Amino acid sequence: MRLTGIGVGRALAVGPVRRMPDPLPEPPEGATVADPEAEIARTRTALQQVSAELLQRGARAGGDARNVLEAQALMAEDPTLLDDVVTRITGGRTGERAVFEAFLEFQVMLVGLGGYMAERAADLGDVAQRVIARLTGVPAPGVPESDTPFVLVARDLAPADTALLDLTKVLALVTRDGGPTSHTAILARARSIPAVVGVREADDLRDGQLLLVDAGAGTLDVDPDQASVDEAHRRIEERRAASSGPITPGVLGDGTRIQLLANLGNAKDAQGAVDLGAEGVGLFRTEFLFLDAKSAPTVGEQKAQYVALLKAFPGKKVVVRALDAGADKPLAFLNDSEEENPALGLRGLRVLREREDILREQLTALAEAGAETEAELWVMAPMVSEPEESAYFTALAKELGIRTAGVMVEVPSSALLAAHILESADFVSIGTNDLTQYTLAADRLLGTVAHFQDPWHPAVLRLVAEVGRAGAAVGKSVGICGEAAADPALAVVLVGLGATSLSMTPAALADVRAELLTVTLEQAKARAAAALAAGSAADARAAAASA
Ligand code: PEP
Ligand code: MG
Repeated sequence: MRLTGIGVGRALAVGPVRRMPDPLPEPPEGATVADPEAEIARTRTALQQVSAELLQRGARAGGDARNVLEAQALMAEDPTLLDDVVTRITGGRTGERAVFEAFLEFQVMLVGLGGYMAERAADLGDVAQRVIARLTGVPAPGVPESDTPFVLVARDLAPADTALLDLTKVLALVTRDGGPTSHTAILARARSIPAVVGVREADDLRDGQLLLVDAGAGTLDVDPDQASVDEAHRRIEERRAASSGPITPGVLGDGTRIQLLANLGNAKDAQGAVDLGAEGVGLFRTEFLFLDAKSAPTVGEQKAQYVALLKAFPGKKVVVRALDAGADKPLAFLNDSEEENPALGLRGLRVLREREDILREQLTALAEAGAETEAELWVMAPMVSEPEESAYFTALAKELGIRTAGVMVEVPSSALLAAHILESADFVSIGTNDLTQYTLAADRLLGTVAHFQDPWHPAVLRLVAEVGRAGAAVGKSVGICGEAAADPALAVVLVGLGATSLSMTPAALADVRAELLTVTLEQAKARAAAALAAGSAADARAAAASA
């Protein structure tokens, strides 16, 4: 039997199923408490203990997991939620029931808000479960203990579970819920664990069943035959050999150079990227530095961060993106208006233009950092939809001392007008995540439309081809910095469409490097042509594979 979902990463795994225990039962509604004051104190303590435990786990896990767990710890101590819990206990509920109701109400509200907020609802539910478990005196639902490796199957994984996974035991993750940007997916990607999320029939899987997980294909084979298991083990070995091979610059089999760069969100991850063979940085997401900032960071504060980044790449290209605030990444000091459809609103360069003071400060900080370090600094603007915006940004950047200024192509209009954009921009970088969302009209954060968010879609590829042609005509660099670049088979197609560099999460570099070596530029072009002629993402994938 074959089940399908959304694959995260390219790896494979074969192992027996271990299910996460199902959530705790709902605390009974009718139970009452004799001493509400004591009940409030008991509940308050449980909330504090859970918060402390989450902070501790975060400190142990570090990296992306730490941010996620710290955010959860804050939820456990949220004063509004606490007030609500206290009111319910005063009204006669038990602590368990009060926590259950208050958190649930908040979760429903978050789901109603949609997008990024809805995806945080699962985190809140997890905090509630932990608090109720503590109050009830039962272990918090979590990853099962096992002496032997297994494939973890769950309805959804909370960040607290994913953060501390023992990678010597957990071969792969399978979840029923969750989209491509759920925490399970983000953390699985960061920790290179193969995962398939959004598998509708995952509830039917039973402990002990053998599972062949192919994250690249997004499939699960239940009780596979021996030949399939042998083939999977052969591919697992092949991947291992490829990733432990020598780290060389990105190059096709015929010697065509394709720079392999890293996507980074903070300077601390720079060394890890260098160790994995990043030849520089293709996308530094500056908004990640300031997600929690209440006011605009000063030039000095920004400069310190940029210097730390640039120092890790002496003599190498580092492409820094101006703040991409708005939609899924609102910044308190830039996005203060309520918008019905923030992805279509005042985000990226649009909001920076409204607040040119902030843009000027950022470009100044970057120019100063660039002048003090040896890296080759390139700066680009996010969410550009018009050639005029490109002209505006590049002129301003040059005025403030940036030598190489370009723009991201994330909106179909700018892909179609790439030739005009390149009249002002020194380079372009295609953000396939947003380009796919806007081409297919599907919110990239919404699980319900996740199947549209597929950069293999020939409509997306045609837009990439347009940009590739425009770049080649004037000899300017066309980078790719969306998740698409991390898919080795698609990376080859993107090169065939004219991409001159590929930037990705550093964990994906080895696979892409190995895949590029297997083709010549002519072969990459043939695969690209086959994919372009297809009528669906699935057909494009298949066509490229057999071209
Ligand atoms: C993209 O849209 O593809 C991109 C790289 O930018 P972000 O994911 O930060 O929106
Ligand atoms: Mg984007």
